[in-house]
Amino acid sequence: EPVLELRGVSKRYPIEDSWLSRVRGRDRYASAVDDLSLTVRRGETLGIVGESGAGKSTVIDLATGLESPTAGEVVFDGDTVGPIANRSRDQLAAVGRLFQHPRSSLDPRQRVYRAISEPLLEAGWRRDRRRERVSELLSLVGLDDRHTERRPRELSGGQCQRIALARALALEPSLVVLDEPTAALDVSVRARVCNLLLELRDRLDCAFVLVSHDLGVVRHLADRIAVMRDGQLVEYGSAS
Ligand code: ADP
Ligand code: ADP
Repeated sequence: EPVLELRGVSKRYPIEDSWLSRVRGRDRYASAVDDLSLTVRRGETLGIVGESGAGKSTVIDLATGLESPTAGEVVFDGDTVGPIANRSRDQLAAVGRLFQHPRSSLDPRQRVYRAISEPLLEAGWRRDRRRERVSELLSLVGLDDRHTERRPRELSGGQCQRIALARALALEPSLVVLDEPTAALDVSVRARVCNLLLELRDRLDCAFVLVSHDLGVVRHLADRIAVMRDGQLVEYGSAS
């Protein structure tokens, strides 16, 4: 069952004030993503690799609705989605996102309990259900209730990444976007977070999109891999 489909999606940016646009009197465009199609299914991890500037972040921004395509269609859970401002609360909750820098995924002033329970609070969950869910999420990411009163600076990078993951998973999203999730971590911590992500893929009924420079991490975690260059897919197939 597809969770996310990109159908012939392009994203172009005008090149402002270029020599050519002045000479020809019209805009020129650069494509960040060019006529790209891909599908991500439940229970599957799609790895996206490519050099800097290949268009990986643009694919993520299109998939999560931060950007709208210039052409083509982004279909999420069977519905064509518009820009993020027009999305319903349920559609927003359907995507969890984890960023590269664990501490920047978290508000430094918020304690762990608050960071994880905030999405539940915003979704109108009552206090006792929130408490229960926070405990459940902490154990899902390999932490326990002793951590609830800590703030990010009192936690290691790996712990912060686990907390950020717990927060991203709070409302059982159908899609989880992992944007260079291990790039800022030490090698030993990286391996443990990778193992956690593998375990979660098997336990949760959602789809993962993993963007990484690290081919080792991608090969370890992804079922299928999309290789991007200059806004296009140059290879797309099973990891093996
Ligand atoms: P990656 O994440 O693989 O490094 P990006 O998706 O960030 O690649 O960028 C792809 C291309 O699109 C780059 O050439 C980049 O300069 C261009 N680009 C991305 N965002 C913008 C923008 N807001 N305005 C103009 N060009 C952009
Ligand atoms: P602040 O940083 O402003 O002190 P906290 O994150 O400590 O905020 O707490 C925010 C709210 O979450 C508090 O109002 C508190 O009632 C609730 N809370 C914090 N920790 C727990 C916990 N372990 N169990 C239940 N509720 C908690």
